[in-house]
Amino acid sequence: MADSLTKEKRSWNMSKIRGKDTKIEVKVRKYLFSKGFRYRKNVATLPGKPDIVLPKYNTVIFIHGCYWHRHPGCKYSYTPKTNIEFWEKKFSENMANDEKNRLKLEASGWTVITLWECDIKRNFGATMDKLLDQLHNMTYLG
Ligand SMILES: [Zn+2]
Repeated sequence: MADSLTKEKRSWNMSKIRGKDTKIEVKVRKYLFSKGFRYRKNVATLPGKPDIVLPKYNTVIFIHGCYWHRHPGCKYSYTPKTNIEFWEKKFSENMANDEKNRLKLEASGWTVITLWECDIKRNFGATMDKLLDQLHNMTYLG
């Protein structure tokens, strides 16, 4: 059975299994920690299992891969040329889930910040500056 899976489908399955503590997530966490922020990670009890949770700022952060989460206008969110139906179904499921989770979190009073993989990889400094600005504008619940 496994042999009939295409390489792309197999990497999809792998990505579902791996699913946490990617290199860029670790990089963002280390940065926040160095700036004095204290967080929890991959909180399974919250919708969508946010990558970083900052309870004192009522804020959750998702670090999204551009490809799986369809970063709008990003060159990494291309659609493969084969198995188009399979991919479009996966992608729309992902986007629907992201949206559903965001709405649930916001309904419970969380601020939801989404960071994109390509921004973190290419513009780490600017992306983190923007994130810190957003966090400094939040009410600190200490
Ligand atoms: Zn992107």
